[in-house]
Amino acid sequence: MCAEACPVSLLPQQLLWYSQAEDHERLEAHNLFDCIECGACSYVCPSNIPLVQHYRSSKSDIKKAQEEKVKSTQARERFEFRKQRIELAEKEREAKRAARREAAKQAQASTGTDAMADIVAAAQARAAAKTTSPEQELAKLQRAVSSAEMRVEKAQVKLDSALENAEPTEKINILSAALSGAQQKLEKAKVRLAEHSN
Ligand code: SF4
Repeated sequence: MCAEACPVSLLPQQLLWYSQAEDHERLEAHNLFDCIECGACSYVCPSNIPLVQHYRSSKSDIKKAQEEKVKSTQARERFEFRKQRIELAEKEREAKRAARREAAKQAQASTGTDAMADIVAAAQARAAAKTTSPEQELAKLQRAVSSAEMRVEKAQVKLDSALENAEPTEKINILSAALSGAQQKLEKAKVRLAEHSN
């Protein structure tokens, strides 16, 4: 009777079985989401089974499960990305350590004052290269201020978005702390720039 009454030609009885068994795959295969919740099947049901309530509950469960799946996929992707980043950073550090070991080995291998003089001269050259003119220093400090401002803006956007989406308090606190930290760094950068300009 329910199948005959259904205006979208669904099989309400089968849908009820799968709903009770929480068999989401079969529910979707039997086009649960085509149900318009008109209530015709419940109306003609001689056993007065509240069919529509079962369908509504199953739809909600399926949507929740899909959302959870999306969230867990995103979390896994974030985890994988972070892992790759850490591995890459570790490889770079190892490469630098290896380069330093090699340089130290070569330095040990070379004997005599000439070799030592070369090392000292190279160190002096590196130190000289590091010294910057006042103009370069000023540009560097200005860049530091701009980048600190950008970080503050980004932190503010993240916090606003979290507040707008009513994210958990713990996350809001973390984002607030991040914003506060970014603001402090910006202040410091500005102070350094002002000191240099004076
Ligand atoms: S509530 Fe859904 S299953 Fe029942 S008759 Fe209406 S459309 Fe068909």
